[in-house]
Amino acid sequence: MSLLSNDAKEKKSSGNALLIGNIAKEAKKKDSSVINSTIGMLYDEDGKLLSFNSVSESLNELNDLEKYSYGATAGSEEFKEVVNEWVFGQYYEDFKTSSYISTIATPGGTGAISNTIANYLSKGDKVLLPNPMWSNYVQIASDRGIGYETYNIFNADGKFDDEEFKRKCLELKESQKRVCVVINDPCHNPTGYSMNYFAWVSVIQTLNMIGRTGTPVILIYDMAYIDYDSRGLEHSRSNIKQLQGLYDNIITVLCFSGSKTLGLYGLRIGAQICIASKEEDMKEFEEASDFSARAMWSLSSVLGQNLIVHVFKNHKEEFLKELSNARSILIERANLFLKLAKENNLVHLPYNCGFFVSIPTKNPEEVYEKLKQKGLHILPINDAIRLTLSSINKQEIERAVKLIKEEVICD
Ligand code: PLP
Repeated sequence: MSLLSNDAKEKKSSGNALLIGNIAKEAKKKDSSVINSTIGMLYDEDGKLLSFNSVSESLNELNDLEKYSYGATAGSEEFKEVVNEWVFGQYYEDFKTSSYISTIATPGGTGAISNTIANYLSKGDKVLLPNPMWSNYVQIASDRGIGYETYNIFNADGKFDDEEFKRKCLELKESQKRVCVVINDPCHNPTGYSMNYFAWVSVIQTLNMIGRTGTPVILIYDMAYIDYDSRGLEHSRSNIKQLQGLYDNIITVLCFSGSKTLGLYGLRIGAQICIASKEEDMKEFEEASDFSARAMWSLSSVLGQNLIVHVFKNHKEEFLKELSNARSILIERANLFLKLAKENNLVHLPYNCGFFVSIPTKNPEEVYEKLKQKGLHILPINDAIRLTLSSINKQEIERAVKLIKEEVICD
């Protein structure tokens, strides 16, 4: 007889990227020619984890108190301020006058997403998730007894499916009188798709249409890869600017990831940033998020917070150069992949930028097993396999395309 509670008995991680990543890591330890194209971290062309000098220097410059002390559950005021300045960019002053903004430090973007879903949906409710998606959304929701529906991101022409988005939002409005939707943009995981201006306009129109009827709407904007948008930092912030057009009973929660922006994957630091039109909505967000954070993780990494403050205050210019270099590495790999895919008639889902690209296939698990035998570790997802461009170099991309072509085209 299980000692777990009835709810906990259902908790089994499967098909999880971290699990599959560990299998790949072990295989690579035994054979260095193995290609580990699974985990979402950025590696340089020599196969070393790409760390930023500006971040490492900052780490050396922190004192013991800044590294190891306890701090406030919601994070330090300095941390909140530098993160807001970074995330809102050129629009920060504008947002400060147009909206109520409140920020809570979290253990990575995962903590931000989890803490938002936990407080805006009840057990038995459903969150609206993208398809395809980062599979952890489902686990985050189900850990709270929350279900999900999906909206297909792409229509038959490979464009953002605004009709489907609208239909799914309206269905949830009818069935649960509340719409909580996740958008992962830019550099969507697992496809690398980035929504354009018109896609964002249609999302905002749909959410406003629902919000105006009095139905509460919560937009969870997972911006984990925002700083890898090939269109640059200013462009990626212009989508945030559009959120000012949201109706006043809609709140947006931006989920920022220090893992991706600063390469602090294992340090577990991120932020949950609420944009509300009404002060009471912002206050409620603050209270509930702080309460749950205290209950779940007590406080987020003080080291992570102070490191980010230090980088943005003292090493910003150097960091910006390094980040731009990191983006260029990814762009070069992506250009190579896109060229080879075209030459080899390898179909992939719409890709614009970022860590991943997805190749559709009818039997992803089987392809995963076959590629693994040949020394290429990828991630099987729904109806596709995901190749991680961030973790492999250009030579490995050439080998990977050849191997994938053999397995996927012979499907
Ligand atoms: N969102 C997406 C789409 C991701 O791919 C990830 C990490 O892989 C995250 C959020 C969260 O990352 P972290 O919790 O490390 O910030």
